[in-house]
Amino acid sequence: METILSITNLHKRYGSLQALKEVSFEIKKGHVYGILGPNGSGKSTTLGIVLNVVNKTSGTYSWFGGKVQTHEALQKVGAIIERPNFYPYMTAEQNLKLVCKIKNINYSKIQEKLELVGLIERKDSKFSSFSLGMKQRLAIASALLNDPEILILDEPTNGLDPQGIHQIRAIIKKIAAMGTTILLASHLLDEVEKVCTQVLVLRKGTVLYSGPVDGMSTNESFFELQSKDNTLLVKALQTHPSIETIKEADGKVFVYLKTALEAADLNQFLFEKNIFLSHLVTRKNSLEEQFLELTKTNKTTTQN
Ligand code: ADP
Ligand code: MG
Repeated sequence: METILSITNLHKRYGSLQALKEVSFEIKKGHVYGILGPNGSGKSTTLGIVLNVVNKTSGTYSWFGGKVQTHEALQKVGAIIERPNFYPYMTAEQNLKLVCKIKNINYSKIQEKLELVGLIERKDSKFSSFSLGMKQRLAIASALLNDPEILILDEPTNGLDPQGIHQIRAIIKKIAAMGTTILLASHLLDEVEKVCTQVLVLRKGTVLYSGPVDGMSTNESFFELQSKDNTLLVKALQTHPSIETIKEADGKVFVYLKTALEAADLNQFLFEKNIFLSHLVTRKNSLEEQFLELTKTNKTTTQN
């Protein structure tokens, strides 16, 4: 699959502060990527570097397989990394016309993009009359005017009310469904979970996880079991090839897996050994717990 952006071993120092350490990742065409991390973890710095507005300390990045210079490549990138800023006394349409003029884009794109972000009915309203959510949507329309290969958004829902947040997320999904690659930085786990398919988790400038959003929970599910005789239960469990560890606590037996195992199959296996469960629950470490776990410890996991 076509590579849009590849970052290798990026480091960034602001004076004595190490903002990025050995950050590497790759963006392939057609996916929605999230950079997830708490405030100050280096998300905006990463975006700033690849957009050529922040100088890297060391490492490399290349756009579109390195076939074109950064300057030329950035013409195929739509990015919103600051609060949306347009002329307040001009209408939405007038503002976009100005952008078209500067970037040499046909005016016909304006209607299409305003429709996409749900602002066509407000095209004649002044920018100053817009809510923050509408301003953000206008910024998205503006960034999409030249049909970029990738849309980059830094904390696109910050400061918005729930309805505004919902609208922005719906638009992002719509854009992704049309085939545009998206890179979104967010400190909100549920945003990344809702919108992205791939995620890079940063903490204090280092990569804690990179891979599919779903992959964060692979092999993380476990069972909580109980029977009349837990000693017999544990003995039986020890003979199962899919089970990695067994722990006992509070009269319950916790089973952690090496390989996937369905609850029904585990139940059947025990039943055949004459063990009857009084309690069987499948637990999955939620992405939230894992994210908190990841950002608390220094564990590094990579999954491709
Ligand atoms: P995020 O976007 O994840 O909140 P940033 O990339 O903005 O993180 O910041 C990463 C770290 O670099 C933070 O500790 C921040 O204070 C620091 N930092 C960011 N920009 C500058 C700058 N221009 N000068 C000095 N330190 C900076
Ligand atoms: Mg930031």
